[in-house]
Amino acid sequence: MGGHYDYIIAGAGASGLSLAYHMVQAGLRDKKILLLDRAAKTTNDRTWCFWEVGQNSFERVVFRRWNQIWFHGEGVSRRFNIAPYAYKMIRGIDFYTFMSQWVLQQPNISVRYGEISHIQEGEGGAVVGLDGQTFAGQWVFNSLYKPAPKNPRHHYLLQHFKGWVIQTPEPVFDTEAATFMDFRLEQRGEVRFVYVLPFDPHTALVEYTLFSPEPLRPDDYDAGLREYLGRWLGLERYEIQESESGIIPMTDAPFARQQSPRVMNIGTAGGRTKASTGYTFLRIQKQSRRIADSLMQTGQPFYPEPVFNRHACMDSVLLNVLDSRRSPGKRIFSDLFRKNPPQRVLRFLDEETGLLEDLQIMSSVDIRTFVSAALAVGRRRWLEPKRG
Ligand SMILES: Cc1cc2nc3c(=O)[nH]c(=O)nc-3n(C[C@H](O)[C@H](O)[C@H](O)COP(=O)(O)OP(=O)(O)OC[C@H]3O[C@@H](n4cnc5c(N)ncnc54)[C@H](O)[C@@H]3O)c2cc1C
Repeated sequence: MGGHYDYIIAGAGASGLSLAYHMVQAGLRDKKILLLDRAAKTTNDRTWCFWEVGQNSFERVVFRRWNQIWFHGEGVSRRFNIAPYAYKMIRGIDFYTFMSQWVLQQPNISVRYGEISHIQEGEGGAVVGLDGQTFAGQWVFNSLYKPAPKNPRHHYLLQHFKGWVIQTPEPVFDTEAATFMDFRLEQRGEVRFVYVLPFDPHTALVEYTLFSPEPLRPDDYDAGLREYLGRWLGLERYEIQESESGIIPMTDAPFARQQSPRVMNIGTAGGRTKASTGYTFLRIQKQSRRIADSLMQTGQPFYPEPVFNRHACMDSVLLNVLDSRRSPGKRIFSDLFRKNPPQRVLRFLDEETGLLEDLQIMSSVDIRTFVSAALAVGRRRWLEPKRG
């Protein structure tokens, strides 16, 4: 037996580390916490971008922030002031470095590296197997994501992308504004856009991004990036300094929050990825705070969640529109940015709009398409036979 802990956190990525941080901030300093992962994180394996009003718990590692965003789409090519929001970027390596130094200062937290083989109910709680050893915890938090088998009741798209950090000899980037979505690309029946995240006038992270059912071949992302840089940024000479790629699930399939009585799924594995956008980082922060508060107040991590989530239903409808190609994604996002203040769109994507604002958002897109999609979602949910 590897030892007994109050809390075991399986996977020390964004959600595992954030949860440990919020546990200590909430006052759970006398609880023995074990963090498990394959290996220490020493590379810049991802970049998190998100928008918010005010500050988050990891403000000190925010690498860049922009108060303006560009949107290029159908009938709209504008730079928007998004105050009171700021669009922010945290580099993975800065977050991991900050967290590993912070963990070293926490006497109640231990870290072990190895391959997690299983997580199941066990002695006095749940147990985790790591390289042949077993660790027991009163509660186990699992962030190991495994895509579930597909079910025809639900939609399964992917947000997949490749990005390059490029450096140019001439100063070409507008450091005051991030490009939130640039749809001036051949769409090929899918949703294709580019983010441009400038670090300084010579350097930016440029990401070629798709929402579609399958990833592209690796060369296709490179070709898309080269074409965008040449055609839309007019760049012929640049040096690629770093590259990142990723696949984020965009699905309305349910994610079990409670894997078993003493095992709670967190992060992407716990359904924290917004189905219609792939944004996850701030939703992880919110979940981590709520789990920590619940542990403090009730001794167990399962805080109450609403039975019905109107925004999740709207995500399903949008996924249906995109998956069934009822309307090009480029048109939908363009309508949203052309007919609404950007703050309303951002609030909507954050699930913070009320009914009136939701109606304003709905009335800015082609409502007939969305009503047909809503009916199709209903048919899938209630008429397709249940599986499993
Ligand atoms: C390249 C990339 C860019 C992204 N950009 C954004 C963004 O801009 N904004 C945003 O909101 N979201 C973004 N996301 C989505 C999301 O925020 C991240 O995927 C986030 O890291 C999810 O956190 P997590 O804890 O669920 O998973 P992870 O951070 O992936 O953590 C899971 C951990 O489990 C460990 N692990 C897995 N299996 C095992 C095993 N068998 N044994 C031991 N350890 C194991 C992994 O090593 C990993 O550390 C991005 C995702 C990727 C991949």
